[in-house]
Amino acid sequence: MAYELKEECGVFGVYGDPEAVTDAYWGIFSLQHRGQESAGIAAVDEQDPGRLVVRKGMGLVTEVLSPVLSQLPPAWSAIGHVRYSTSGESEVFNAQPLLMRTRFGQIALAHNGNVVNAQDLRRSLQAQGAVFQGTSDSEILAHLIARSAAEDLSGALVQAVTQLAGGFAFVVLSPDAVYGVRDPNGIRPLVVGEAESGQGHMLASETCALDAVRARFVREVEPGELVVLDSKGVSRLTAMGWSAVSPCAFESVYFARADSKIRGESAQMARRRLGGVLAAEAPAGADVVIGVPDSSLPHAMGYAEASHLPFDFGLVKNRYVGRTFIMPKQSERMRSVQLKLAAVPEVVRGKRLVLVDDSLVRGTNARYLIQLLRACGATQVHMRIASPPYTDPCYYGIDTSRATELAARTKSVEEIRQMIGADSLAYLSLDGLKRGLKGGGWCLACFGGGYPVPPTLEPVACVGREDDHD
Ligand code: AMP
Ligand code: SF4
Repeated sequence: MAYELKEECGVFGVYGDPEAVTDAYWGIFSLQHRGQESAGIAAVDEQDPGRLVVRKGMGLVTEVLSPVLSQLPPAWSAIGHVRYSTSGESEVFNAQPLLMRTRFGQIALAHNGNVVNAQDLRRSLQAQGAVFQGTSDSEILAHLIARSAAEDLSGALVQAVTQLAGGFAFVVLSPDAVYGVRDPNGIRPLVVGEAESGQGHMLASETCALDAVRARFVREVEPGELVVLDSKGVSRLTAMGWSAVSPCAFESVYFARADSKIRGESAQMARRRLGGVLAAEAPAGADVVIGVPDSSLPHAMGYAEASHLPFDFGLVKNRYVGRTFIMPKQSERMRSVQLKLAAVPEVVRGKRLVLVDDSLVRGTNARYLIQLLRACGATQVHMRIASPPYTDPCYYGIDTSRATELAARTKSVEEIRQMIGADSLAYLSLDGLKRGLKGGGWCLACFGGGYPVPPTLEPVACVGREDDHD
């Protein structure tokens, strides 16, 4: 069975700070929620500036990098990466950054997202003799750079990235610069920051990583833009040009950390508004509103405010269990959900509850939580989902599991209500989501809003163990 290779990842880059390695460490540490399977940092050796050094491995940032941080040389520039792949390719050879030797010298690359024409590019590169070690899109970009006829690395990068389609953000480290590129629709996020000390510039998937290294937000990398951070500061090497701008709505709904700013506003504020719109669209006769911690608490607060119902913490989360969705096997996910979430009996006993979650994908979480709340004495559980039915797979780098597993793809709302055992179930409408998010043009493809970039008809990569999604 072949699957698409999808990457939920976080990237970070820094140029011009004598503490570049430490910055990269804290930068990706604050992006840990974007991927927990592998972590890595590449740095330019200050003593031998043509030499790039990489340390990476499978596991969390602290597990992988704390023991080896001292092995990285003092550096003024570095990139970092956290990764979660849903494809079964949870192998160390796909851990990033990827180090390549090219005729422009050594380069290191890391990316977030999914190049939808990766398979075609890979085939044509292989036909020209390219040999691939792993299956990541970064390796494709590295080969495109290596094969470019351009005179310098900047030119090669421009030529290479213009061949890519999809939803992606890359950071590339060379001995002289750090580059960042964002897909032409701006589907995947990438922001530029400047160190408060005035020493150095940063690139990051989310603004929370800038805050972690005491950098101020400068701007978002524009859709289709290639930026370079070097001794001259930050410059734009426009690469692909703009298409329709369509940033990922799911970053605002769920994926980004709540304090990260998207289009100038913390994800938290957007989530509260979505909860408010949901309350107006789908009120429920209940005594108290609770949310699924942590990601859905803002949505639940917004719901409670708008419906004039009390908000309470009816569920507690064990913070030391990772994100349950970000686990390749269903059996691991189920066990983790049980270990991760517990109910507070005094809050739920004898109560009619509104249970708010940000999204419902397979329904595993919801079914377990509703059983748990009933076992703790809840008299009614009204499930409210602060995003529309999740009907279509994401081709731009967010794991949505197999299309067949998406509950809303094959089941009606009533069938899902029965499956999860709720007294009532309602979703935010697509219109409600558009109203709740600031600005227009969002990618809403997984909510049935249409794909902004045509997805590949064939699977992108043939990988993995079949049981990964079972
Ligand atoms: P499920 O149990 O499959 O319905 O998963 C839904 C829950 O997982 C929601 O509570 C979300 O907070 C979370 N979630 C939804 N989509 C994703 C995703 N792509 N990656 C990680 N977590 C997700
Ligand atoms: Fe985000 Fe959904 Fe679009 Fe994927 S399909 S980029 S998850 S909004």
